[in-house]
Amino acid sequence: MSLNQLTLIEAFEGLRQGKFTSEELTRDCLKQIKKFDSQVKAFVTVDEAGAISQAKAVDEKIKNGDSLSPLAGIPVAIKDLFCTQGLKTTASSKILADYVPPYDATVVKKLKDNDAVIIGKTNCDEFAMGGSTENSAFFPTKNPWDLERVPGGSSGGSAAAVAADMCLYALGTDTGGSIRQPSSFCNISGLKVSYGRVSRFGVLAMTSSLDTIGPMAKTAQDNALILQYLAGPDVKDATTPSEPVDDYSQAIVQNIQGLKIGLPKEYFIEGMDSEVRQAVLDAAKKFEELGATVVDVSLPHTEFAIAAYYIICPSEVSSNMARYDGIRYGLSERQSGDLLDIYLTSRAKGLGSEVKRRIMIGTYALSAGYYDAYYKKAMQVRTLVKGDFEQTFGEVDVILTPVAPTPAYKLGENINDPLKMYLEDAFTIPASLAGICGLTIPAGLAGGLPVGIQLLAKRFDEKTILRAGHHYQQATNWHKQKPSIK
Ligand code: GLN
Repeated sequence: MSLNQLTLIEAFEGLRQGKFTSEELTRDCLKQIKKFDSQVKAFVTVDEAGAISQAKAVDEKIKNGDSLSPLAGIPVAIKDLFCTQGLKTTASSKILADYVPPYDATVVKKLKDNDAVIIGKTNCDEFAMGGSTENSAFFPTKNPWDLERVPGGSSGGSAAAVAADMCLYALGTDTGGSIRQPSSFCNISGLKVSYGRVSRFGVLAMTSSLDTIGPMAKTAQDNALILQYLAGPDVKDATTPSEPVDDYSQAIVQNIQGLKIGLPKEYFIEGMDSEVRQAVLDAAKKFEELGATVVDVSLPHTEFAIAAYYIICPSEVSSNMARYDGIRYGLSERQSGDLLDIYLTSRAKGLGSEVKRRIMIGTYALSAGYYDAYYKKAMQVRTLVKGDFEQTFGEVDVILTPVAPTPAYKLGENINDPLKMYLEDAFTIPASLAGICGLTIPAGLAGGLPVGIQLLAKRFDEKTILRAGHHYQQATNWHKQKPSIK
């Protein structure tokens, strides 16, 4: 087994015991990238020199007997939506194709303060708008399980990089499913944190009231460890409350005897893949064997969530994208010298069609004549969806659902039908609207393709889903299944 196949916790222990060095671990990841990334295309940028020099610095610290964080010396990939000082950050968009940020996102700074080895920046849907990574302006990422299929999205590059052992873990963002769904498609464990649990400062905004930052890793246990170093209030992000941060690694140890798990009937819709349905039901059985109680619950407003999201998201997109005007950042088309022309040509050339579609929908939904009919209505629906969860979490600790109606689909299969793409998000969007947390973990294979399950808990109760996920993974081997690219 080469070192890049280790989990974060295994690598941490190996480094500490002097079984190998951070440089060896980092070189194994780089080797894997060299070998397979021309096929998978998970990375927009690989920072080989930076990663090696960081790894050497950590090895030096270990030699000196310095006390180090568990993240020290371990290679991580970061979605190309996070500002990394001195390292290109593109949002997989032409408008930022050459943008080098002068500062680090808070979470990137936290990783650096913990001596993490940042190995590169991963491909995504442009500005995180999409669910297949096909909306990247550069190239689509392929699913390591089947190179003809999508890895999911928008954090598809991060998911593919972890699944293909090109790094030990990655960071992604999840606004409506972008950590959970690609984790499901690529057979990794991804955590969407509660809104406000992790600082968004320095992460390019898509939908500010929904965006969350989280880890994508090989196990729930690794996610628990990573979250410890990401979570908490940040003076630079006013939406991060001073809610205490749990000791996640400690909290997941306790067994799940007596845990109450709800299965919402609205998440078993017609048209969903029967093997996906079966995987969720099998997981429910497994949880029962582990001592949990499983009951039926109902979240009656689920079916309206997509419609509300696809008003709220574009509305905020139309505002957040206004800053890419050809003057302040990135691509600037200045041929004519006329200010309006600079705006129009830079945006016309720099932004892709899904981004433009959302800017138009959002501008329309927020316009004076339609605000009440669309935006206000969507916000009312959002409150109802939130209420569904509040009520249900009065009855159960965790809600168990599928992540997506189908396993990974073929490249090109859905991308020309935006509505079809939007419907794929039916199971991930409600939790986003409610601001609660969700964990995706592997739970089966359908036709040889990974199928994940989603565990939801109330806001700031990450420890409970991580605990449930960890105990599930101790009793099953789905998360150990690897794609066969060799
Ligand atoms: N697929 C959803 C969308 O296109 C979610 C994206 C995300 O979470 N960033 O909006």
